[in-house]
Amino acid sequence: MPSYETFTDSDAAFAQAQLGRPMRGVAGVAYRCPAGHPGVLATYPRLPGGPPFPTTYYLICPNAVLAVSRLEASGIMAEMTAKLSTDPGLAEAYRVAHEAYLSDREALAREIGDEVPEIAGFSAGGMPTRVKCLHALVGHALAAGPGVNPIGDEALALMGDFCPEATPAGEETSSDD
Ligand SMILES: [Zn+2]
Repeated sequence: MPSYETFTDSDAAFAQAQLGRPMRGVAGVAYRCPAGHPGVLATYPRLPGGPPFPTTYYLICPNAVLAVSRLEASGIMAEMTAKLSTDPGLAEAYRVAHEAYLSDREALAREIGDEVPEIAGFSAGGMPTRVKCLHALVGHALAAGPGVNPIGDEALALMGDFCPEATPAGEETSSDD
């Protein structure tokens, strides 16, 4: 089951500052950074009347996004994908992570009375057999906690202290409050 905190007005303002537009369809904050801003947003799989939205765990912390982008640029996703074909234990854990992701999304879909058949069986980030987007996998790992998404956990270990409390992300709230 997904668990998340209330998405407050100040969280919404933070998300909008990162995206340049309002973030819609948010179920709640699935991970909050030590500095207090949202790190990962849990999203509903569809806005009313709209297309499916498959990124159930949306990485919003700008420090995390930057750290993940650097990792992706290092070419590590090809190594991780290769490891999935040579390490059966890892491959199985990754498949279980895929199922967990789908299960969380199904719970969110039930909250809005929708089944979102268009993306049934399709999770995110390349799961269950490839590594295509570490932003999605890190988002899942942060939301679910350690031990659920092995590739996301590995990426997080490489990212280190990506968003320390002493270095709040963004400049937009620092001057006039
Ligand atoms: Zn952060």
